[in-house]
Amino acid sequence: MTIKENLNNIKSTLPEHVTLVAVSKTKPIEDLMQAYNAGQRIFGENKIQEMADKYEQMPKDIQWHMIGHVQRNKVKYMAEFVSLIHGVDSFKLLKEINKQAKKYDRIIDCLLQIKIAEEDSKFGMSAIDASTLLQSSEFSELQYVKVVGLMGMATFTDRMQQVESEFNFLKTTFEDLKSLKTNNCQLKTISMGMSGDYQLAINCGSNMVRVGSSIFGKRS
Ligand SMILES: *Cc1c(COP(=O)(O)O)cnc(C)c1O
Repeated sequence: MTIKENLNNIKSTLPEHVTLVAVSKTKPIEDLMQAYNAGQRIFGENKIQEMADKYEQMPKDIQWHMIGHVQRNKVKYMAEFVSLIHGVDSFKLLKEINKQAKKYDRIIDCLLQIKIAEEDSKFGMSAIDASTLLQSSEFSELQYVKVVGLMGMATFTDRMQQVESEFNFLKTTFEDLKSLKTNNCQLKTISMGMSGDYQLAINCGSNMVRVGSSIFGKRS
């Protein structure tokens, strides 16, 4: 199956309210261009340098999403163009994104990453810490970032019941925090679900799925 066919198959299964992020990390530009030529405009990368290189070389109507863990000292390399940062897991990082966004006089949309998996290796904040952050005065002073939703990664397991309960937890957290509408916080996006579990994630309330290998094939 070609990238175009994979993409069209997946898109045909997605409800209209669900946004597809094509996760293109490690893949060459030719592969991304096949997806682009099939109509895909949102791409997700997990390394800032790789995303910046691809941004330089590809059409400028692409929306680039940073889905990986973000090191603060690298925010400056994507501040000019990134359209959504999924993995924001601390106030310090938000503050740095705010500082770099200000240089370009733009507001960068962010998702707070919530730790929903039981594995220690997954990044993210607790639901309580996210709630505290969003209600803090330090946060309300950040004029160049906007928190537009939450992101989560489930445990890597084939026990789908566990994955489901982790997705449900993210959805509940989202519903709890949604009422906190301020100048720089308005939650509308729940980013959860990857190649192996995006259908389950959608059933649990996801409206943004991050799909890589089912579109571009396995990564080496
Ligand atoms: C790699 C990655 C994905 C996509 O994974 P696939 O299983 O290839 O669909 C989704 N989200 C994040 C955060 C990733 O790092």
